[in-house]
Amino acid sequence: MDSTYPRIGLHIDGEWLYDRPAYTEVVNPSNEATLGSVPGATPADLERALAAAERGFRVWRDTPPLQRAQLLLRTCALVRERAESIAQILTQEQGKPIADARNEVARATAFLEWDAAEAQRLYGSIVPAGPQMQQMILRLPVGPVAAFTPWNVPVGSPARKISGALAAGCSVIIKAAEETPGTACAFVQCFIDAGLPPGVLNLVFGNPSLISSTLIASPVIRMVTFTGSVAVGKHLTQLAAAAMKPVLMELGGHAPVLIGADVDAAALGKLAGSAKMRLAGQFCASPTRFIVHQKSYAAFVDAFAKAASEVRVGDGFEPGVQMGPLLNGKRLAAIDELVQDAKVCGARVAAGGQRIGERGFFYALTVLADVPAHAKAMTTEPFGPMALCVQVADLDEGITLANSLSVGLAGYAFTNSLEEAERFTRELECGALSINHFGMGGADTPFGGVKESGIGREGGAQSLEPYTTTKTVLTRTARV
Ligand code: NAD
Repeated sequence: MDSTYPRIGLHIDGEWLYDRPAYTEVVNPSNEATLGSVPGATPADLERALAAAERGFRVWRDTPPLQRAQLLLRTCALVRERAESIAQILTQEQGKPIADARNEVARATAFLEWDAAEAQRLYGSIVPAGPQMQQMILRLPVGPVAAFTPWNVPVGSPARKISGALAAGCSVIIKAAEETPGTACAFVQCFIDAGLPPGVLNLVFGNPSLISSTLIASPVIRMVTFTGSVAVGKHLTQLAAAAMKPVLMELGGHAPVLIGADVDAAALGKLAGSAKMRLAGQFCASPTRFIVHQKSYAAFVDAFAKAASEVRVGDGFEPGVQMGPLLNGKRLAAIDELVQDAKVCGARVAAGGQRIGERGFFYALTVLADVPAHAKAMTTEPFGPMALCVQVADLDEGITLANSLSVGLAGYAFTNSLEEAERFTRELECGALSINHFGMGGADTPFGGVKESGIGREGGAQSLEPYTTTKTVLTRTARV
């Protein structure tokens, strides 16, 4: 156990609960040291959380939007005050470089601020009718929300879901990732210290299957939101469908990067190196399938491989480290298996291709060239520091390859041709497309996928939509 790591508890009905049997241990992925243990919620804890969320909903739903917004802004100020300590916990348990952890905390505050403003704009509408009749469409909070968040963005994802739900007037039971519970606890503490009433936000950990099946089946829960893998997302969507509940699913991708014939291929290769090392490739929008015009291919791959081999991989607390470890041994084995399979299929290892060291879950930033279509990685989201390069003869071949998978989350395209950019915009099957850069949108733009990458959008002007429902009220004003 590490004395600098916080004690992990469940937070139910305004109370921290620590004395539960350990469900699992938290491991620092940079050195494999045990940081602490995670208590598992019992069925009785889940029932208590449901009852608390039901009571909390009634209180929060009737709290005026301006007060809800003020609560989010007070929380935001506390997150800013505690940003460094939250970032330290994040890097300890997740491994990403401390600068990236700080950026993620800053991103979380942006979500809180955005949703605080949106809370005050939950406008309904009046639909014209004849005399003695009023037609009102109200936007109301949907009810208690069950939220499930992943380990790769342990403050960013809870921030998006909690702030959207609370801004809309919903209560929340969140099961944050058991791999990164310290960040979630520190984040939830900010809401409590900002004065959120008991029961409005409840945090649980434990057996994921027990928690999701109990919460989603309960009549208390009125909406389900999840970020994670396609497989788990489909499972939770099926549970929700059985109980006729709406879902917000932000699932996996396998982002294509289309690179045209008229670009500075060497400069883009270098840029791809810094984009691919982000979170060690462990995020849903990580650029992964580099589909390059044959004229640009050789220069791009050479520059990409050079940039990748120069990336400093190590403990996220070490100065100068640019890329941290994978989450655990399971992820390490999964990446290595995909790399070895691609090699057997005939891919060329242009950079990386192996684990680094014996302690910590480090894997070299890997660039594979000439990857054949039948290599597993071409259809399985790697979710790691692995880039696949393929050359194509023209735009049509590139777009067909990009759209050939069942997922469509993020996409990237590089071109100096307006005509090509327009075709990418219209034809690439993805929910978020970045043209001529590797950046991603912030709180002010919606994010989510098409096809099996999910249902619904987080952020942007629609950020409260998944957490609201409408009620049509028709009032006859004549005396009765
Ligand atoms: P996993 O599928 O084992 O678990 C992912 C998450 O889902 C964990 O937090 C886990 O607690 C949760 N989960 C699993 N079963 C659940 C259930 N029955 N009910 C509720 N929650 C459940 O995957 P992993 O090995 O931890 O991560 C690797 C894969 O996850 C990747 O391949 C990637 O596709 C996906 N992933 C996606 C995102 C994203 O941002 N879209 C984030 C993290 C992981």
